[in-house]
Amino acid sequence: MSDDTNPSATAASGSAAAKATTIEEKQYLLRFNADTQSHLHVLSADVCLDHCPDKLCTIFCPAEVYKWEDIRMHVGYEGCHECGSCRIGCPHENIKWVYPKGGHGIVFRLG
Ligand code: SF4
Ligand code: SF4
Repeated sequence: MSDDTNPSATAASGSAAAKATTIEEKQYLLRFNADTQSHLHVLSADVCLDHCPDKLCTIFCPAEVYKWEDIRMHVGYEGCHECGSCRIGCPHENIKWVYPKGGHGIVFRLG
């Protein structure tokens, strides 16, 4: 019997979801089918470097997609949860956000 049809496996999976507390644990409960092209684009690296001292996207993104690397923003688009927060959260409207192409992106296993 597969996990999908086994009630005790489903209950155990739900229990794991309830216990997941770190982003790594939560992401393990998700599946990603990443495209080869990013659906997220930082429009101006200079704006991030010179006009955004707090690098807010590294704070508000729940998937920790944005990582500041000395002088540039690394965008790990593969792990995006498609919540849309970076569309409104960047104070300089410096992120171009679209949904991934059809068939790509996050798959909510428990959703
Ligand atoms: S919040 Fe916007 S401007 Fe600031 S670092 Fe992130 S992408 Fe750049
Ligand atoms: S859509 Fe949400 S999860 Fe994806 S990069 Fe933006 S803030 Fe992060």
